[in-house]
Amino acid sequence: MSEKSQKVIAANWKMNGSLELLHSLSSLPSSKNKIIICPPTTLICKSKEILPREVFIGGQNCNENASGPYTGEISAAMLYESGARYVILGHSERRSIFKESNKLIFNKLLCATKFKLVPILCVGEDLEEKNQGKAKEIIESQLGQCIPKDIDFDDLIIAYEPVWAIGTGLTPKIEDIAEIHRFIRDFLIENFGSKASQVPILYGGSANEKNCAEIMSISDVGGLLVGGASLKKKEFIEISKA
Ligand code: PEP
Repeated sequence: MSEKSQKVIAANWKMNGSLELLHSLSSLPSSKNKIIICPPTTLICKSKEILPREVFIGGQNCNENASGPYTGEISAAMLYESGARYVILGHSERRSIFKESNKLIFNKLLCATKFKLVPILCVGEDLEEKNQGKAKEIIESQLGQCIPKDIDFDDLIIAYEPVWAIGTGLTPKIEDIAEIHRFIRDFLIENFGSKASQVPILYGGSANEKNCAEIMSISDVGGLLVGGASLKKKEFIEISKA
């Protein structure tokens, strides 16, 4: 399968997981999908040693500066050096808990790409925005303000994650996921040109072994970003085969 048509299954462990979980995935069966595991930063080096060679590793965040006096922070270059090739940016938990703005996320994308990491940019509306009918408006401003104009779309992944679906067991209707993914694709092509026509757009928010196949079958869905279910070995193995 060509790289471009390969779907992506990315695991976001958040501040969870352990060396034990990593070891349990050492024999993760090979998959037609591209698998990206984003463990806590402390496990990235070990992930390279323990996980099968075809599994890619990602960070969950990086600082917007190349280096300097930012105690407790991790730079894009450090992630790359430890073996990560991807980094999740703009996750809703970073936006809401750590008050990350679109401007800050834009700067993080710039820094990540400068140091050869592929950003997985998360966008999506919260419950209030959904109820006010503002989902598309919110997603449009996140995409428009977070993506640098001259970004290489071969090295970018978008994840649509409705905030109200994250960790709640709720998912949008299949036709709603399809509509938003189509909307994101159209917006990107309109604003960045045809180079954006192949960028993978993942779905994230309570994806699990039961719903993954149906969601993955939507034509504009380029894969899944999986939180909670990625911490359960058997379930994640099932999802990775979707
Ligand atoms: C996430 O936080 O990126 C996520 C998709 O979480 P969950 O699968 O647990 O909803």
